[in-house]
Order: sequence, then structure tokens, then C-alpha cells
Amino acid sequence: MIAIEGAYVLTMDGPDIAAGTVLVGDDGAIAAVGAQGAVAVPPGATTVRAAGHALLPGLVNCHNHAGMALLRGYGADLPLRRWLEDRIFPAEARLRSDDVYWGTLAAAAEMLRGGTTCFADMYFFEDEAARAVDDAGMRAVLSRGLVVLDPAAAAKLAEAEDFCRRHQGAAGGRITTMMAPHAEYTCPEPYLLEIDAVARRLGRPLHVHVAETAAEVQGSRDRHEGRSPVRYLHDLGLLRPGTLAAHCVHVDADDIALLVASGAAVSHNPASNCKLGSGVAPAARLLTAGAHVGLGTDGPASTDSLSMWETMRLAGWLAKAAGQDAAALPARTLLRWATRDGADALGLGGVCGRIAPGLRADLCLVDLRAPHLQPCADVPAALVYAATADDVAKVWVDGVPVAEGGAPSRIDTGRALAECAVRMRRLIEP
Ligand SMILES: [Zn+2]
Repeated sequence: MIAIEGAYVLTMDGPDIAAGTVLVGDDGAIAAVGAQGAVAVPPGATTVRAAGHALLPGLVNCHNHAGMALLRGYGADLPLRRWLEDRIFPAEARLRSDDVYWGTLAAAAEMLRGGTTCFADMYFFEDEAARAVDDAGMRAVLSRGLVVLDPAAAAKLAEAEDFCRRHQGAAGGRITTMMAPHAEYTCPEPYLLEIDAVARRLGRPLHVHVAETAAEVQGSRDRHEGRSPVRYLHDLGLLRPGTLAAHCVHVDADDIALLVASGAAVSHNPASNCKLGSGVAPAARLLTAGAHVGLGTDGPASTDSLSMWETMRLAGWLAKAAGQDAAALPARTLLRWATRDGADALGLGGVCGRIAPGLRADLCLVDLRAPHLQPCADVPAALVYAATADDVAKVWVDGVPVAEGGAPSRIDTGRALAECAVRMRRLIEP
């Protein structure tokens, strides 16, 4: 039993607790939550003294290609299409499976030390990503990205199905799976439908890029009788509860209505959309319309940081500036998107994303005593507008400490970064 005592607790499940006690059982589940003094701490519990800290659910990154940590910074300042076609696709063609292990492990080190306990991934060699997630002690929703440009598209679809069958519930339940048609513009209709048929057969959700750039939307309208990617995927039956639509930058009122009505979730990835010059997603309008929204970073070669603190802050800033409305996307909404709503978007709402008895103890403890966080009139505002990954003091997944004082507990970060440096040179300088 672990007793975390004295922190400002953002349960994301009800009112905050100014000085709380959270008990974590030996089974890795949250056993009790309440005000300090109101929760009986059993004798023998390991106590974590957390006054001066905020305790919140571990952050959930809803869109990532973690293995791309190998290509961080490569092709900087190119627009999406040239970045992909001139730099990323040729480098990825040289990827070996063990590259993805080390890339994902390095990304996991960055995420865990910054308080991110769970991420949704879409990449290749996902067996190796799963091995890295297991070794790191993280939680993840993994999917093998599928594009028909690949000459072996049919074999890759079979591989993706096999991956879902073998890894659903793996790593002691920390790994779940999705089927991932990369996007409308990389998957022609028969392939999209084949992938969807497999997803339905397996009972697994879809993870797909949607309306990331204006060019993508125009291409979809040209290819599909004037239909936007949202309308097209909706008409094919791919938007439904459980579907995770990454980006949704260039969506109009009709698209937003379809997203809401379908029950699909949106991963809003503001840093990637900024860096790749894709545009600014109408996040405040998605919120007002009632869409399910989580936050993501996109891959470490697109953003290039995997910090969910920067992601929350940027999402808030962009919505406020673009709408000339300081009330757009309040801090508490951004925290909810980064925790509870993100977990819901990944089908993990009954598992993590809130601090409530019975849920898995995926927790993030933030030290509020640094100068940029003091004095602290409003904890949610301090966390969203000023906190950084370096303020994260301690992180648990399934009740197991996985990072402390800026260092992942189960990853040899130095070795992982050295492996990535060597491998990146091979990928970009053949
Ligand atoms: Zn992406």
C-alpha cells in the first residue's frame, strides 16, 4: 500500500481536494481518495509526503508515432508533404525492427519523466514498440499504421490483425490495440473497407489521420464527389464511437456536426499542426459542439517535443488568440482533455484518466514549489500556463513508480539515446 499525502489532488472526477490522501493498493489500483485525515492510512503503508505538490491523473497522449524519436528534428521547417516524401518516407524505408524498439523506448523515457503515462501509437514494427512499452512500464494503445503505397499492403493488413490478436491486453493489461488506416489519402476505398472489416471482426477501434491539411481536404473533395475527409469516412461507416480521428484541423460546421453525431473522438495536436504549418484546429468550436476531444503531440519528428504540458498550453493559447476570447478553452478543460477525456478517447475511461477508487493508479505528482509556479493562486492555471515536464516529481503506472526526479525508473535513458543517435545516422545518411 502506498499513501500519497498532502498534495493538492485534481481527481478529474469531482471537486479538487486542497490537501488530500490517495491510497494505492498492492494490486496497482487506487484504493481510496479523500481529504487528508479523512482517509485512514493503514499501518505499514509506504508514505509519500506530497505537500507543495499537485497530484493528477497521468497524462494521456492521444496521437503519437513514438518510434519517430529516431528522426527527431529531421526535415525541420518543411511543409507536411515535402517533409514526408523527401525526408521521412525514405528514412523510414530503411527502418529495422530493433530501431523501433529503441526509438519507442527513448520516447517513453521522455514521456514518463514528463508525467505522460499512456499514449496512442501508430507506426511500424509495433511488436518492438510493444516490447519497449512493456519494458518502460507504460500504458499504450498500439496500432500498426497501414498505407496502400506499401507494395505488401495485404500482408501488412494481416500483420496488423495478428498484432491486435496477440497484443490486446498484453503487458499485464497495459497494452491495448487499434486498427489504423493511415488516412483517406494513403488508403483507397477498398483498403479502407478491408481494414474496417477486420476492426469490426476483432471489436477494435480505428485510429486514422483526418483533415490534417487544406490540401488533404481539397484532394478528398476532388476524389470523392466533393466530400470532405470527415464526410467521406462517415459515409463509409468508419466514424463511430471508439474511432480516434487525429488532427481534424480543416473541418467545417458540417464536419463538426458529423464528428459529434458519430461519437468518434478527436485527437487535437496543436504543436504538430503549428510546426508543420498545417493550420489551427477549431478546438473551441469542437468543445462547444460537444465533440469528444483528447490532446496529442503527434510523433517526435513532427513536434519535436512530447511534452503534454506544452501541448495543453499551446492548445489554450491558440484557441484564445484565434478566437480573441480569453475564456476559450479554460485551464480545467485542457487538463480534462489531457487526462480523463483523453483516456475516454482511447477506450480507457474505465481504466485510467481519473483519480477514483477502483481505477488503475496512473498518477503524476508535480512539484509546485519552483519560482515559475509560485505564489500559486490557482493550481489548474499554474499547471497549464506555467508547468513544464521538468516540474514532474514522481510518476506511477499501475501503482508502480516509473519515473522520479526527472529520470525514468525502468529505462537506461543514456543507452537508449546513444542507440537512437547511432541509428538515426544510418537512417538519414545511408
Ligand atoms: Zn500522426
